[in-house]
Amino acid sequence: LIKFRRKVIVDTSFKFNPYEALKSILKITSYHTGDEFIERTAIEIKKLFQADLVYITKAIDFNPTTKVKILYSTNNKIPNILDLNGVPGKFVFDNKIIKIKEHVKYNFLDLLDEKFESFYGIPITDGTDNCVGHIAIYSTNIRELPEEINDIALIYSRKIEREMRRIELEKENQLIRNQLQELTITDTLTSLYNRRYFGKVCSDVFAQVNRDSTKATLAYIDIDNFKSINDRFGHEGGDFVLKYFAEILLEHSRKGLDYVFRLGGEEFCVISIDNTIEYANEHMNRIMNITSEKFLSTRFGEITLSIGIVEFDKNFASYDEILSLADKKMYMAKKSGKNTIVK
Ligand code: GH3
Ligand code: MG
Ligand code: MG
Repeated sequence: LIKFRRKVIVDTSFKFNPYEALKSILKITSYHTGDEFIERTAIEIKKLFQADLVYITKAIDFNPTTKVKILYSTNNKIPNILDLNGVPGKFVFDNKIIKIKEHVKYNFLDLLDEKFESFYGIPITDGTDNCVGHIAIYSTNIRELPEEINDIALIYSRKIEREMRRIELEKENQLIRNQLQELTITDTLTSLYNRRYFGKVCSDVFAQVNRDSTKATLAYIDIDNFKSINDRFGHEGGDFVLKYFAEILLEHSRKGLDYVFRLGGEEFCVISIDNTIEYANEHMNRIMNITSEKFLSTRFGEITLSIGIVEFDKNFASYDEILSLADKKMYMAKKSGKNTIVK
């Protein structure tokens, strides 16, 4: 087998135009943000430098070897995580611009068809002069780069650093927003959903039922004689019963189909979508049995429940009516001697 050595062409056509470069930087920074900004920047640099490969990285590890995450590569054969051991980019992480004119002879462990001749690497530096990533620019040609190109490359690098920081911040903010959202819909004692979130879910489910896209039920649960638990075991004992009962409710609900709320005091509610009144009745019967059984083996003894169940229906004027009917039925269960379901 004869392997032909590809003839290396010394690139004389490369003309660098600082004016074009600045124009392109302005264009990208005014129109793009986030991941798109990183992508556009890599593509623009590839065009500007008439390069064959450009990728932008973020350092993820320095020990024992420098590893980077590829934020964007103009060639998708480059792996997402790259160990820079043996890769020219390694030297950039000494916080230096690296220019290798020729003989790079690198093809990423045979992942690419072409072997690169020249490499130009620009550090991405944070505010405290740490190199946090780099821009890697490869060409299959031998390449002598003019000195003033560094200024332009560093402007790109600083813009990328700023955008990387913005992306991180945006992620952090999203996390905080999610946590806040979580807090505003959660009951602090039991970690079930709270009354505020009940309003939202109940009206959403009612809207779904009105569109005929689901059947749903609402069960209103009140613990019987709860005041006497507080009287006998103190407020803390009462709190324990509420938390333990909440766990039982949650454990015996279907993920994504049953929404479990504490409406306040010792009153709970389960909204079940994709459910009929017969199933809701079975479900609540099971809850009553399990609750009674579980508490019998604690110092609290027997705990019973009074429950009212209503099926969502288009004929209700609003979701408030569904709740107040369920409340009424729960009250009927109390009047008929407690420890009962009324449907
Ligand atoms: P019934 O069988 O008719 O439902 O009687 P009950 O005693 O369960 O109901 P009542 O409404 O008379 O009393 C509820 C008690 O729940 C009164 C209140 O002090 C207590 N309570 C309300 N919120 C909490 C709480 O967060 N923790 C504790 N430990 N008790 C609470
Ligand atoms: Mg009550
Ligand atoms: Mg009660």
